Amino acid sequence: MRSDHLVSDSKIEEFISQMLQKGPRLSDYYQQPSTKSDILCTKGYSHEFNQPNCDRCDRERVVTRSVRRFPGPEIHYGLIASGDTVMRSSSSNTASYFEDVLCFEMEAAGLMTEYSCLVIRGISDYADSHKNDKWQCYAAATAAACTKELLSYLQPNENVSAAAASSFPLTRDDRPVLNKTSHFSGSGIQHTGAGTFSVGGDVNIG
Ligand SMILES: [Zn+2]
Repeated sequence: MRSDHLVSDSKIEEFISQMLQKGPRLSDYYQQPSTKSDILCTKGYSHEFNQPNCDRCDRERVVTRSVRRFPGPEIHYGLIASGDTVMRSSSSNTASYFEDVLCFEMEAAGLMTEYSCLVIRGISDYADSHKNDKWQCYAAATAAACTKELLSYLQPNENVSAAAASSFPLTRDDRPVLNKTSHFSGSGIQHTGAGTFSVGGDVNIG
């Protein structure tokens, strides 16, 4: 899939468009927000206290970014950190420790300790004090669309019993086995402790 996207667009926008056509009411939640609400402030500049959005934040502290060559969602492959604390700010210490981390999330660590799995997340904010929920639904839709496209590369294993396929969570022995020609590798996350984030090694599925 990654190679295919070097020569053609992903199907993320296509899938989201199809979803919104089927359920127009979903547009209120899952339509892409205006890029004007995509605001990145300089490191160390905190959000104005008690304000629901960044309207009162200093425009001089907004980072000016060049226009992207290719519009639409971008798929990033790499390390995701998982923890039990919402990330709302960064210090020089955490920034250097998480230098190679693409994003932070709060759910996958519980699964990763039990099952080998591939984590796909939509990125909705910059993990700083300016974070808000504006992009959250759209980010969730992009992650679901990305997952749908990834699944189109897999061949179902006919040996999985109907009983096993219908039970959730699957036990380690019942998990569907990916097609032998399919091999996914990526950096993953492992285990968290109270109030901490930790990152683990590569995860290989296939
Ligand atoms: Zn702000």
